[in-house]
Amino acid sequence: MEHIVIIGNGISGVTTARHVRKLSDKKITLVSAETDYFFSRTALMYIYMGHMKFEHTQPYENWFWEKNKINLKKGFVKTIDTKSKKLHFAKGDSLQYDKLVIATGSKPNKFGWPGQGLDGVMGMYHKQDLENLEKYAPNNKVCKRAVIVGGGLIGIELAEMLNSRNISVTFLVREDSFWNMVLPKGESQMINKHIKNHHIDLRLGTNLKEIISDENGKVKGIVIAETGEIIDCNVVGLTAGVSPNITFIKDSEIETGRGVKVNRFLETNIKDIYAIGDCAEQHEPIGQRRPIEAVWYTGRMMGETVAQTICGNRIEYKPGHWFNSAKFLDIEYQTYGWVFANPKENHQHFHWKHEDDTKCITVEYNIETRAFVGINTFGIRMRHETFNKWLNEKRNVDYVMNHLSEANFDPEFYSTFEKDILSAFNNQLKTV
Ligand SMILES: Cc1cc2nc3c(=O)[nH]c(=O)nc-3n(C[C@H](O)[C@H](O)[C@H](O)COP(=O)(O)OP(=O)(O)OC[C@H]3O[C@@H](n4cnc5c(N)ncnc54)[C@H](O)[C@@H]3O)c2cc1C
Repeated sequence: MEHIVIIGNGISGVTTARHVRKLSDKKITLVSAETDYFFSRTALMYIYMGHMKFEHTQPYENWFWEKNKINLKKGFVKTIDTKSKKLHFAKGDSLQYDKLVIATGSKPNKFGWPGQGLDGVMGMYHKQDLENLEKYAPNNKVCKRAVIVGGGLIGIELAEMLNSRNISVTFLVREDSFWNMVLPKGESQMINKHIKNHHIDLRLGTNLKEIISDENGKVKGIVIAETGEIIDCNVVGLTAGVSPNITFIKDSEIETGRGVKVNRFLETNIKDIYAIGDCAEQHEPIGQRRPIEAVWYTGRMMGETVAQTICGNRIEYKPGHWFNSAKFLDIEYQTYGWVFANPKENHQHFHWKHEDDTKCITVEYNIETRAFVGINTFGIRMRHETFNKWLNEKRNVDYVMNHLSEANFDPEFYSTFEKDILSAFNNQLKTV
């Protein structure tokens, strides 16, 4: 019987295993160095915040795997021998495969800062990071201040986590406004204010120079590059982005760039080896998408796609329209289609912000054709299906703006802003 081995039991690997099982009775082994069972990485923060226990983040009961004949193997894969089709584990054992799926996810970026290996310095990605945080920042007596380095989605989650235990946070952000490579100016500035309103010491345009050790090899402070200022702290969270977790593959025959290089069928350069999820890198980006997509739902879609291919129905990965969602402390963020930090050529932004600084929308559209390109919403929840439909139907911006209430999740709530948004939009038209 053909043996399908999957390295990584995150959303990508687990989706592959589940779908291969639905489609076939092939032998399946799911390998992970992190945990025995699949858990939801996006829920890690809620464990620390006391909303959930770790077991609650496991979407499947522990009996699910045996019942579905999915073998689980705990171990760290050290090398892949593509000639003999064998994985070699750190503990010395090995495993034969017929087809291999690499779904090893990401790891937090560390840019070689002095002191980055000290006790009390951690990323926020793996379950072990959470355990470290619990150890070094259980409360504000043990951890008087934490410094977070890197202003992205994970950085702000970590700030919220620490805030929930009343631990003081200094947040170093390299850019001069929060996440402004992705967010348009008005949104980014609104989030700056929101972060400060939560008593987080946000330092924009600020880089880490080094992390200072106490006499026991534990962090006791950091130095800011621009000013030389020393900030005393007990924990440093490194959240300056993530990159594919593929160091162990670099010496193999498998082609890598930043990630494991794949074609549209998620096939690597080696026959019978595929890569999916955060660790996969498209040779050519798909549309406006990035060649590496480190988000949950794309990992799931890639898992479903590759399972089809493995089971004999070779299909292309076609992710459809871009969407994403996140939370910035109390403010929910959603994006559908494309809204760029700065409008693309021939494009324009319509931006509306509520005076309370917790709600705003930005719409990107083509000035000449008036095609609707995308929307960002903050503090106003929209329906994914509706925007997907409008993007498929290639609706123009005027249609979208005049029907926005239909896309709203909470029409009553939205109706209180509708008039204001529409009149701001119509005013912008007059001034163009
Ligand atoms: C705190 C946090 C919050 C997030 N929030 C969101 C969100 O709100 N929305 C969103 O879309 N995305 C979010 N993400 C990103 C999302 O979680 C990832 O895109 C997704 O989990 C990636 O899934 P994956 O299956 O590709 O990889 P992973 O989940 O990283 O799983 C890979 C697994 O492979 C294991 N592994 C790696 N190398 C080896 C090896 N050599 N041997 C054995 N095992 C190995 C790893 O230990 C890991 O268990 C968040 C991420 C984090 C960290």
